[in-house]
Amino acid sequence: MTYEANLATIESLVSRTDAFIGGEFVGARSGARFTSVSPRDGRAIAEIAACDEADVDLAVIAARRAFDDGRWSRMAPRLRRVVLQRLARLVERDAHELALLESLDMGKPVSDALAVDMRVVVQTLDFYAEAIDKLYDEVAPTGHDTLATITREPIGVVGAVVPWNFPLMLATWKIAPALAAGNSMVLKPAEQSSLSVLRLAELAAEAGVPGGVLNVVPGYGHTAGAAIGLHMDVDAVTFTGSGPVGRRFLRYSADSNLKQVSLELGGKSPQIVMADAPDTAEVAAGIAGGIFFNQGEVCSAGSRLLVHSSRREELTEAVVLAAKNLHAGDPLDPSTRLGALVGEEHMRRVLGYVDGAVRQGASVLAGGGRALDGSEGFFMEATVIDEVRADTRIAQEEIFGPVLVIMPFDTVDEAVELANSTPYGLAASVWTKDLSTAHRTAKAVRAGTVWVNCYDAADITVPFGGYKESGFGRDKSLHAFDKYTQLKTTWVQL
Ligand code: NAD
Repeated sequence: MTYEANLATIESLVSRTDAFIGGEFVGARSGARFTSVSPRDGRAIAEIAACDEADVDLAVIAARRAFDDGRWSRMAPRLRRVVLQRLARLVERDAHELALLESLDMGKPVSDALAVDMRVVVQTLDFYAEAIDKLYDEVAPTGHDTLATITREPIGVVGAVVPWNFPLMLATWKIAPALAAGNSMVLKPAEQSSLSVLRLAELAAEAGVPGGVLNVVPGYGHTAGAAIGLHMDVDAVTFTGSGPVGRRFLRYSADSNLKQVSLELGGKSPQIVMADAPDTAEVAAGIAGGIFFNQGEVCSAGSRLLVHSSRREELTEAVVLAAKNLHAGDPLDPSTRLGALVGEEHMRRVLGYVDGAVRQGASVLAGGGRALDGSEGFFMEATVIDEVRADTRIAQEEIFGPVLVIMPFDTVDEAVELANSTPYGLAASVWTKDLSTAHRTAKAVRAGTVWVNCYDAADITVPFGGYKESGFGRDKSLHAFDKYTQLKTTWVQL
């Protein structure tokens, strides 16, 4: 992949901008469209169907019909496996094009889109495809004269609403297990990043996923998203996004049919560096990767560096150097490691956090401002902030940008208290050479994932999700099936 070749393909990249309902691409019934802007230069790249309640209704009807007639839900598991494996191969075939589309649409470096997002999408599809015909149900030990089976059944029509930071990857974390379990789905991508998942819907049809099984309704949250949440014939909603919108989905459920809701929300994840942490250069590289990957637009971004006072100076110096060496660039350039933030409004919000922190007495050690002067894109410098009080906004709230705050501690107990001092509980890391300290801290930190001597290490085989206000329910691993199946007891008197 070369920069020149990538630039030459931009014009031909965007192919699908309509909703995908009942196996066909269709415009919104209202005829409305919204403009999708590329954060690399602020230019319009597509006019996308703006679905609302009427379109969501059509999609749910199509999904329900497909579920009820069994075209997918009752297909032999091994045949569903073959279809999803075929889809994995098609994504592999088109990975380069999909990565470019993702990068153009939401600003992440194209190299990461290819090496991380698309690789994980393929792994996810393969993992759940392979699981389909290997999961057995249970027989309960009820006694000699009875037979009681516990079977997992698909839940029905699943609604999915996803964010823009890993558009195709997060969508696939939901699509793959939901479809593997035999459900039908209505998915709404974020309005900032609809393109890759619309293309995925086309590939799913090519792979043999029957019409009506996977429906994609692009549009705004307060229209299309709310319509999914409130729909009386959607059986479950799986949501990834911000806390305030997650709370809305609980209300939508209460105000409609009590549909099952699972929430993957935000975080303010601590990276704890103990006095006996490994080599400073190695730790600093991990810390910087943990916050600056994907411009910090990662729910599990390690946005708080909690460092033992004895290591503070050397580690701060090394992390600041790493930040200063990270230069924002055109996301479509394969050498770029720090891309553009998703949009102007979001960029101004992130910059506002930095200004607010400075007003509260914090000091900016690296970055703090816009990057790539003269560009029309939404670029920001990798930023490191020191002298931060634990109760200030910058230490408590999710920023969702390339901003790291540093806070020192003197004892392990103090580190754990600081780590647990926000409403979130998505992820954390502990850097130490001591096995006991590692395990004790991992147990004491209230988070869904704790990394020891690394950050962001991941595999589709392990679950991902939050404690506390980071949500509930798990994506990834076999545990994800819990969200997309319900248990049935069948009791037979013999
Ligand atoms: P967001 O909550 O603003 O939007 C997420 C989705 O919800 C979008 O599709 C949006 O259109 C929709 N939406 C917005 N308002 C809605 C409404 N009133 N009713 C129904 N739907 C509505 O979040 P975002 O800005 O797209 O993404 C960033 C957030 O996502 C961050 O908080 C981040 O931490 C979180 N996130 C969490 C995970 C995780 O796995 N825990 C992963 C990635 C992102």
